[in-house]
Amino acid sequence: MEIFKSARIKLTAWYLVVIMVISLFFSVLAYNGFLSEFRRGLRIQAFRYVPRAGQNVDDTNSNPSPLFGMFNIPSDDNPTIETQIFNEARSRVLIALGIINGTILVISGLGGYFLAGRTLTPIEEMVDEQKRFVADASHELRTPLTALKTEIEVALLDKNLKLDDAKGLLKSNLEEANKMQGLSNYLLSLSRYQNDGTQFSFDKIDLSKIAEKVIEKLKALTTTKKINIIKELKKVELKANESSMDELVSILIDNAIKYSDKGGKIIIKTKKEGKDAIIEVQDFGIGIKSGDIPYIFNRFYRADISRTKTKVDGFGLGLSIAKSIAELHNGGITVSSKPGEGSKFTVVLPIKKV
Ligand code: ADP
Repeated sequence: MEIFKSARIKLTAWYLVVIMVISLFFSVLAYNGFLSEFRRGLRIQAFRYVPRAGQNVDDTNSNPSPLFGMFNIPSDDNPTIETQIFNEARSRVLIALGIINGTILVISGLGGYFLAGRTLTPIEEMVDEQKRFVADASHELRTPLTALKTEIEVALLDKNLKLDDAKGLLKSNLEEANKMQGLSNYLLSLSRYQNDGTQFSFDKIDLSKIAEKVIEKLKALTTTKKINIIKELKKVELKANESSMDELVSILIDNAIKYSDKGGKIIIKTKKEGKDAIIEVQDFGIGIKSGDIPYIFNRFYRADISRTKTKVDGFGLGLSIAKSIAELHNGGITVSSKPGEGSKFTVVLPIKKV
C-alpha cells in the first residue's frame, strides 16, 4: 500500500536523522579530542628535545614561547614542518571520520529501512485484515438487504396485491430483517471481545450451571430436531465473565444442533482437569473436512460442506467469537472432527490465571 511505503521511508529518514546526529556529535568530539591530543604530543616531544652538541638552541627555536622554546609548535601563522605534519594528520582524521560517518549512514539507512518494514508489517496486516472484515461484513449485509428491497419493489409494482400476499411479504421481510439483526449482533460481539477486555467484569461462576442454562434456552431447537442431549456436567468454579461464557457455550451447542441430523445425539461435558476448566461439546453430525479445520475459527469462514450439502443458516462468525471469548479468559479452543462422524469442540480455561 502506498501509504505504508511512504511511512516506511519517513520512518527510515527519522532513524537516520537520530543516528546521524549522534554520530556527528561524537565525530566532532573525537576530532577535537584527537587534535588536542596530537598538539599535546607535539609539545611533549618539543619539551624532551635535547639539542646536539654545538647546536645553537636559538637555531631550532623560531617560536618565542618560553615553555616550548626548543620545538616549533604548530599554529596557522607558523607553517613549519610540524605544522605540516599536524595538518596532514588533521586531514587524515577528517577523511577517516568522513568514511566512518558515510559507512554509518549507509548501514543505518539499510538497517533503518529493514527495521521500519518490520515495525510497519504487523500494522499493515492489521489494516488489511480490517479492510477484509469490512468488505466481508458489507457483503453479508448486502444479501438480505437486496432480497428485502427486491421483494418490496416487486410487491409495490403489483397493483392487485392481496392482503394475504402482503402478509406473506411482510413475513419474509421480517426474516431478512432478523438475519441482518443477527449479523449486526455478531459483529458487535466480535468487536467487543476483540478490544482489550477491560470492560468485562469477572465473577465467580459455575460452568455446569451456565451449561444447564444454555441447554434450557435452546430446548425449542433440540425438541424440533429431536436431538438427544446427554449432560455430563460437573461443578467447575472459576472467575469468568458470565454473559460471555453463556455466549461461548451457546455458540458451541447451537452449532452442534445445526450440524447434526434429525434425531442426533450431543454430549455436553463440564469438568476440571488439573488447573483448567474444560467444556466439551460433542456431536455426531456432518463433521468437518481436515482441510477446513484450520480455517473454521476465522471470521466469515464457512466450510463448503455446510453450504452445499445442508442449507444451514449462518455467517461464519460464531466460532471466531467463541475463540475470542476463550482468549479473553486466557484460554483456548480446539476441535477434533471427521466428516460423517461428528465433531468435538473443547474449550480449556485456566482457573487460576483469571
Ligand atoms: P456458522 O455456523 O454461522 O457458519 P461458525 O463460525 O459457527 O459459523 O462455524 C464456521 C464453520 O465451521 C461452519 O460454517 C461449519 O462449516 C463449521 N462447523 C462449526 N461447528 C460445526 C459442527 N459442530 N459440526 C460441523 N461443522 C461445524
